[in-house]
Amino acid sequence: MSFEEEPKFETELPEKSTEETAEEREERIINEKIREIADVLGNLPSEEEVAAAEEKIDACLEKFVRGGSLEKFHKEPDIDIPGKVEFPDFNILAKVMRIMGFEEDLIKQTVEHESAHIKEAKKFGFEPKLYLKFFKTKEEKKECQPWFQIELPKRGDEEELRKNLKIIVEAPLELSESDLKTLDMYE
Ligand SMILES: [Zn+2]
Repeated sequence: MSFEEEPKFETELPEKSTEETAEEREERIINEKIREIADVLGNLPSEEEVAAAEEKIDACLEKFVRGGSLEKFHKEPDIDIPGKVEFPDFNILAKVMRIMGFEEDLIKQTVEHESAHIKEAKKFGFEPKLYLKFFKTKEEKKECQPWFQIELPKRGDEEELRKNLKIIVEAPLELSESDLKTLDMYE
């Protein structure tokens, strides 16, 4: 999803007070996220850089999906996706996307899709993390994409885990390209 508007943030972040109300907390987090996004936009990775990191993560996951052990999975080096901003929940994500000028339909669609994955993941006891990852295209267009990440346990029933991961990936009504790519690992 591409965007034009750069989100504006308050120059002074409100101090975190002990008697912060729920609204104040929300406002503070939104401002923090917008500031993080502004930082990322100032040093935006290219689409290729993000894709290269994702390929490494996928290759690691594919080995596990195709029968590799958890032990081997955790021996692989941790790969970080450049240009990502983490969101604590969908409410904050939606509000930030609104500030960035995204259409309500796209926000709704994004929240529905990602929350389908995350709801399923939580059922299996995972604590998934929710992100927007930012990058620029060859044409210097600013893009961002939603993304969620699950940390695989150090040990456990590997067959069960593979099955559960598939259920999490298949959860949304309409699957994304990357969901379909992950499902291909199960062929
Ligand atoms: Zn998806």
